[in-house]
Amino acid sequence: MRTGKEGNIRKVFSTDQILELDHAIEISEDIIGDHFKISTSQWKRYRYDIKSLRDLQEAEITDEAFAQILRYAQHPNIRMRGSEWGEYFKICLQDHVILRAMETQPDLLFLPFMVYIITHELIHVVRFARFVQSFYASERERLQEEAVVHSLTQDLLSRIKLSGMKETLHFFSKVVQMEIFLG
Ligand SMILES: [Zn+2]
Repeated sequence: MRTGKEGNIRKVFSTDQILELDHAIEISEDIIGDHFKISTSQWKRYRYDIKSLRDLQEAEITDEAFAQILRYAQHPNIRMRGSEWGEYFKICLQDHVILRAMETQPDLLFLPFMVYIITHELIHVVRFARFVQSFYASERERLQEEAVVHSLTQDLLSRIKLSGMKETLHFFSKVVQMEIFLG
């Protein structure tokens, strides 16, 4: 549990769920690496972190979305040389929103659900980093981008064999906005 400033209580992932989350991140990075032809060494150029609720600052928490993506001009812990590319994305998972959605849909399993969310967020990160999409898009562009990212996520994940993925894909076929972007 995590108690907010307003006194509201937010559920955090259990230790077992954190382990499954790590597994989900591995699966998603493999899928994205294959699709966008990113080698292990190239991944280092994509600077991002994936954090769950227990590690978030108050400002990084929302009750309105499964995740928030924050864009920083520079990684807080890495010093960059003048010409180096320093853009850094922090994917902030909102455990309490995710767990709440899962409670209302008993046929959803945690691992495929997290693979969907992480794959979706990494597609955003790659598209921002490659300037296919601007982080500071208009509302209309953002909705279009969201539809493109959902459709690619559905396409990539419909090809993998993972127990419970079918139910997850069905759930997200109806969801439009997955996350909030904070610049
Ligand atoms: Zn999205």
